[in-house]
Amino acid sequence: MRPGRLALHWKIVIGLTLGVVAGVVLNQWWTADTWSSLGVSDPASYLAGKQSEANAQAGVSAAACRMAINLTRLTGDVFLRALRFIAVPITLFALIVGVASLGDVRKLGRLGGRTLALFLITTVISIGIGLSLSRSIEPGLFVSEQKRAQLTEQRAADASARIATARQEAPRLSMWERLIAIVPTNPFDALARADMLQIVFMSVAIGIGLTLIPREASGPVIRVFEGLSGAIIELVRILMSLAPYAVFALIVPIVAGIGFDVLGALGVYCLVVVGGLALVGVLVYPGMLWILTPRGNRVGPGRFYKAVSPAMLVAFTSSSSNATLPVTIGCVRDRLGVSPEVANFVCPLGATVNMNGTALYQAVATTFLAQLYGIDLSVGDLLAIVAMATMSAIGAAGVPGASVVLLVMVLQAVHIPPDGIAIILAVDRVLDMCRTVTNITGDAAVAAVIASAEGELALESRVGAKDG
Ligand code: ASP
Repeated sequence: MRPGRLALHWKIVIGLTLGVVAGVVLNQWWTADTWSSLGVSDPASYLAGKQSEANAQAGVSAAACRMAINLTRLTGDVFLRALRFIAVPITLFALIVGVASLGDVRKLGRLGGRTLALFLITTVISIGIGLSLSRSIEPGLFVSEQKRAQLTEQRAADASARIATARQEAPRLSMWERLIAIVPTNPFDALARADMLQIVFMSVAIGIGLTLIPREASGPVIRVFEGLSGAIIELVRILMSLAPYAVFALIVPIVAGIGFDVLGALGVYCLVVVGGLALVGVLVYPGMLWILTPRGNRVGPGRFYKAVSPAMLVAFTSSSSNATLPVTIGCVRDRLGVSPEVANFVCPLGATVNMNGTALYQAVATTFLAQLYGIDLSVGDLLAIVAMATMSAIGAAGVPGASVVLLVMVLQAVHIPPDGIAIILAVDRVLDMCRTVTNITGDAAVAAVIASAEGELALESRVGAKDG
């Protein structure tokens, strides 16, 4: 598994590029007729391996295609499942160790306060960028009435299902209910449901408990969790050697299934979202690192992005901050040089509550739909969008498509018809990939700033030293 001495992030970039190319080729040239020419009239049952009269003519070429498709799916699925399998235990173990190894509650208060303040500031700045871009470019005015009706009709069923989910969850999303729900009544239930906010709460609570009892009692417990989280990070390192193949496998079906015509119709909207995310990545994070890390050990954009790029690429293909968390911790620790204490504390917290990309997306999507429906937003509405988008970013689970359900609440808060989400669903997957990258990059940037302030950032990054 060591083809040459190419750094891991380059191998992943190559996998991703080849995957995009293969996806575009399939998207443009693989049609139902292609299956027919191979003797397959019912591709779905053929791929599932079911017997069907319709596929009686399928020959060796069809079998080879099926094998290739199933192998691609298998590689992507196994990789994602392995990362998701790791997400809950790594949050639990890393955060307990992170809090307990800080040693005293005052340090926890200082670190926790700074971390949450940076999370909040970057979230609000991201929303500001989203709102400014969307209000100056007005992407809603670039979609024709006819296209709007067509998109609404095409995705109506999917949109209703998501609105129903949002309505079911609505009572839990009132601010007080949400705050109260962070405290788990049964920690094992929280773990089983992978409720990340509750897991963060219990891990911090256990970590605090461990700092309050004598070191002789807490030491062995901390070492157990330390060993477990170290073992998991090591497993992730091994798993990452599969990443170049996995990102290929994951990206091919996504690109192959993209409706390029819809992407074109919503092109300006997509550009505003992606442009806003790019501004956050190019200005906000490097700016924050530049201002908040000292000259002697400054984290410049080159050093930062080189170290974090494997996690960004996994986030892009998985659309899940949670699934990417083990990779984020690994990159921040082993490649950026952040101490394990700070990485273990900031990254799991960030993957759960710090979603700058999601916040920006909520702001752009809301204003876009308001423009589309010809609804004027007052200053009060804009402030409501800032507040709601911030809360959504804190409350959104780090899983694919989490934003869309929360978007329904933001829309309702400013009286925009929630059925409007049907219009943006068609391009949501692509935008989800991009906003997830911004989400995890923000966690890594805050981890670097906090480590630097605590004197726990290595003098130089160690990219290459631990590549798989
Ligand atoms: N997929 C995003 C994440 O995992 C959440 C979202 O915006 O949908 O970070």
